[in-house]
Amino acid sequence: MTRTEAFAGLRCTECEEPTDADGGRCPACGGPLDPVYDLDAVDAAEVAAGAVDCLLPDAAPPSAGEGRTPLVAAEGVADEVDVDECYLKDEGRNPTGSFVDRGMTLAVGAAAARDDPEPLALAAAGDAAQSLAAYAGRADLRSYGFVPARAPTPVKAMVNVHGGEMRVAGGRYPDAVAGLDDLADYTSIQEFDTPYRHEGAKTIAHEVAADLGGPPDAVVVPVGTGELLVGVAKGFRERVDLGLADAVPDLLAVQPAGCAPVVEAHDADATAVEPTAHPDTIAGELEIPDPAGGSLALRTLDRHGGAAVAVGDADLQEGAVAATSTTGVEVGPAGGAAAAAAWERAADLDGTVVLVVPNSGFKTADVLRSHLMGQGV
Ligand SMILES: [Zn+2]
Repeated sequence: MTRTEAFAGLRCTECEEPTDADGGRCPACGGPLDPVYDLDAVDAAEVAAGAVDCLLPDAAPPSAGEGRTPLVAAEGVADEVDVDECYLKDEGRNPTGSFVDRGMTLAVGAAAARDDPEPLALAAAGDAAQSLAAYAGRADLRSYGFVPARAPTPVKAMVNVHGGEMRVAGGRYPDAVAGLDDLADYTSIQEFDTPYRHEGAKTIAHEVAADLGGPPDAVVVPVGTGELLVGVAKGFRERVDLGLADAVPDLLAVQPAGCAPVVEAHDADATAVEPTAHPDTIAGELEIPDPAGGSLALRTLDRHGGAAVAVGDADLQEGAVAATSTTGVEVGPAGGAAAAAAWERAADLDGTVVLVVPNSGFKTADVLRSHLMGQGV
């Protein structure tokens, strides 16, 4: 790992102590770690333009061309929600079709710098297993992805094509997580076991603000593990800290009603997430009943006065189809949840609104196709 000039090490998000650790969790309390920077060593003009390499830990990670995804105007959604402008941040354009690639390059790069890191491993609803296989393949490292049986078929196929080992767990996401216990020794690339997955997601915020010439008024972020929300908020916060923006945009977190532990905890003013006992949603990538970043996501919403909303499966499918059919961007159920959240909270939104589309709808085409068939299409 080639450290950037500005990277000042890792700090615990729980006890706030700095650590000399090169990854993993806090040696003192087990909390998730977060990269910190010497902002005086950052080229603010570069960051203003959306070039944030100087504000990442690693100057030379194993890149496959992730990031720099387009911000696509969604005039139809803007009309429906009655806001001035609405854009889709299309994370489906990343190498393996999801935002996860942004952090995976950093996480795999950091792991590769360790002595004897193999195998790398994680459990995922789908996207992160595909992404790990891709970046581990690029770094010539052995990797395992544990996924639930319901993970999309194209995702499972690509884990193998990238050269990753795959273990398919019967049942749901927690069964995939439990499967990791079968490995005797491995480097965890799980979100928040590594400080670099959410760190990569922050680049979304920098790109959005650079493309718009300033932060939007509001950003709608689907929440599964919490990685995307925590990362995006950090990116907008960094722009404030660098004097590039006055404020973090209004944050609107969305989860499917059938698995909404962060929304429910936020509504209850709780500081920790109560796991969802019986998760059930068509949006498999958001069906994370006990998210690793649950507490951090709650703290992020509290810190910035963010809002949270749960949307039903029919609404998020309708959101995906409506956004896809009017923009050309292939929006899946997770991105559809963002569109449905904007409709649901239209009265609270104005100005410029950005919907983060976490992954490509192409991965889960069958889900949207069956929704249309249910309508007789
Ligand atoms: Zn700690």
